[in-house]
Amino acid sequence: MKAIKGKLIRGFVVLAAEWGVGCRIGPMKKCSNIFTLTDSNENTHIAHTEPLDMGVDSDTLASWLADYDRDNITIGVVASHSSLQILHGARSEGFRTLGIAVGENRRRFYQAFPGAEPDEWLMLDNYLEMMDHAEWFRERNVVIIPHGSLVEYLGSANFRELQVPTFGNRGILHWESSRERQRKWLEAGGCTMPKVLEDPHDIDGPVIVKYAGAKGGRGYFIARNYRDFRRNVDIEEEFTIQEYVLGCRYYLHFFFDPTATDGFQVQGKGANAGKNLGRLELLSMDRRDESNVDEFYKLGSLRDLREMSLEPSFVVTGNQPVVIRESLLPRAFEMAEGTVAESFELEEGARGMIGPFCLETIVTDALEFKVFEISARIVAGSNPFVGGSPYSDINEERMSTGRRIARSIRKACQNNRLEDILS
Ligand code: ATP
Repeated sequence: MKAIKGKLIRGFVVLAAEWGVGCRIGPMKKCSNIFTLTDSNENTHIAHTEPLDMGVDSDTLASWLADYDRDNITIGVVASHSSLQILHGARSEGFRTLGIAVGENRRRFYQAFPGAEPDEWLMLDNYLEMMDHAEWFRERNVVIIPHGSLVEYLGSANFRELQVPTFGNRGILHWESSRERQRKWLEAGGCTMPKVLEDPHDIDGPVIVKYAGAKGGRGYFIARNYRDFRRNVDIEEEFTIQEYVLGCRYYLHFFFDPTATDGFQVQGKGANAGKNLGRLELLSMDRRDESNVDEFYKLGSLRDLREMSLEPSFVVTGNQPVVIRESLLPRAFEMAEGTVAESFELEEGARGMIGPFCLETIVTDALEFKVFEISARIVAGSNPFVGGSPYSDINEERMSTGRRIARSIRKACQNNRLEDILS
């Protein structure tokens, strides 16, 4: 992995040297949580600085749960992202709910949705204060449902350390949080990913340049050749250059329930070969609306746009429900099954995937999936399906991802298996 990152950063170093900005090298802005560049060009080396901290261990979790009243669990969620769906789903499954918010305006807004309005609020001045409220949460039997905004507000290191039971496996975050680790995981799981170019001079055809840590595609740009790349790149940022895959995007929302023994059972591999690991479900599918790339064609070609000093951007503004052709579903399940099976092999004692995850894909005109990212938790793309989806309705009507999470917690309470789905 070091080698891959090293080569990427070498791309930066080469460019920096070429453009006479070598003095800017090290430490790089966005790399400190992964690798740090130190020294001058001559002595540039990469140090692995991220502790492999897996957060809360199973004994700690068990000790908290020993004090929980399993008949009176409260589902807690930060009021953002997919919280309306999560709160609505929790309520549908008969749970008491807690909203966590900063700012009175945020709380007031939920009055517009009485079907999801939390039973109780925890109002904070800053989301980091959640860390100090751990005991307060545990005294109220709270299980936190993580989503993208929670991880962003707390930071992944704090989230891993939050001393409150959370739904899903927090350990998987380590694998989800870097593009290189994701690639290792997904490719080992049998997914095909877009090619990565390590040297910008090799750009020969459309590529997408992605900055590390960019959220929702902000700042990404398309380049057709080295000149294009050089004109647009911000060399102060760490970047990845990926083959631009032409095709239609589909964001596949799966759910893995390790406690279920029926349905589509994921077959284990490696140490788990021959074992059924749990049930894989397809809950829904979306496509994101991205501003402005979805609409820029109205102004002409990429060249026309650039003549107007405009660049296509990939900022997510909404989500649309979709289905894929049915003949693609077996391959979708094959990729998801491989991804789940591999999640148990990522490191010694890995607990694997638990709950919702999303494979973010592009289907080409050869009807092949390219997976460009995985999200190992509920995605906002599941929000169009508060009332169910064309896939989940087949098994049970009105089953959203948020409700499926609540159902999983309810069943685990009944069967005394909370330890198996929380971390
Ligand atoms: P998030 O973390 O919010 O999921 P992100 O910042 O990690 O987003 P990506 O999901 O990697 O960004 O990509 C953002 C968008 O860029 C995608 O939704 C898609 O439109 C486009 N995109 C990403 N990778 C490719 C690719 N290889 N080829 C074509 N388009 C791509």
